[in-house]
Amino acid sequence: MAKKATQIAIYGKGGIGKSTTTSNLSAALSKLGYRVMQFGCDPKSDSTNTLRNGTYIPTVLDTLREKSTVNAHDVIFEGFNGVYCVEAGGPAPGVGCAGRGIITAVELFKQQRIFEELDLDFVIYDVLGDVVCGGFAVPIREGIAEHVFTVSSADFMSIYAANNLFRGIQKYSNSGGALLGGVIANSINAPYAREIINDFVERTKTQVVEYIPRSVTVTQCELQGKTTIEAAPNSEQAKVYFSLAEKIASHKDSKTPQPLGIQELRNWAARWGDYLLAIETGSIRPELSGNL
Ligand code: ADP
Ligand code: MG
Repeated sequence: MAKKATQIAIYGKGGIGKSTTTSNLSAALSKLGYRVMQFGCDPKSDSTNTLRNGTYIPTVLDTLREKSTVNAHDVIFEGFNGVYCVEAGGPAPGVGCAGRGIITAVELFKQQRIFEELDLDFVIYDVLGDVVCGGFAVPIREGIAEHVFTVSSADFMSIYAANNLFRGIQKYSNSGGALLGGVIANSINAPYAREIINDFVERTKTQVVEYIPRSVTVTQCELQGKTTIEAAPNSEQAKVYFSLAEKIASHKDSKTPQPLGIQELRNWAARWGDYLLAIETGSIRPELSGNL
């Protein structure tokens, strides 16, 4: 009997680095010998293009609009090192709910038992933004994904999106929903960025899985249409993505997070704002505090 694939959903604010991180994660897992499918669930349909030399693939929803019946194999494309690439796609602009695409695409794959047939170890869903409508909550709600990770920087809006996601996870946690594996901290360069994200995960009872620096290597590889794992496999940045892949591969226990209330989050952010301002104006010098 085929093994059961571990299904993981990666959420986060738009533009925060979900697709970049997910593609590098998929590529690194494949290099570690796992069989991986990356399932893009953003109506932008650009999740998998660095796994395929910068090219875009036909989406499940577009294909369904052309043909009434679709064989799942028609919408699965091979990417770097054998990673299977799928893009759910979205409705025609201005029509319908974008989240429907995820429901439709996942249903199609489930009915045709594709995950079992391909003997996958990991299916990784790259899902956008806040849990803005029911459709985007599908990987959490329907027990499709087992573990959810969120990509967040130390910026308030991305932490705000992560906190909203935590509320969604908490809501469905008693009815078989996915639980939270942790936060993938992206674009963490300044020392205070690490402190902010550490403080947030501590307060919400979760953890940082990996700290990923913002790196020009990622940009250079992306401009070649490739992941860092493919185009710069020996770089420091690739080591970070490999480390992330190893942690996710051995991850077992996800938990229900404890989101902050809206006012609590605002107060928390305001306190950090005051602290950063104090550093800037020189009334606090944290790097010297050990000598004072
Ligand atoms: P999302 O999928 O969350 O909308 P993307 O993965 O498309 O975001 O990333 C948005 C942009 O940020 C891309 O151009 C990507 O190369 C860049 N980016 C993301 N993470 C990093 C990083 N760690 N270092 C450098 N650039 C990054
Ligand atoms: Mg994306």
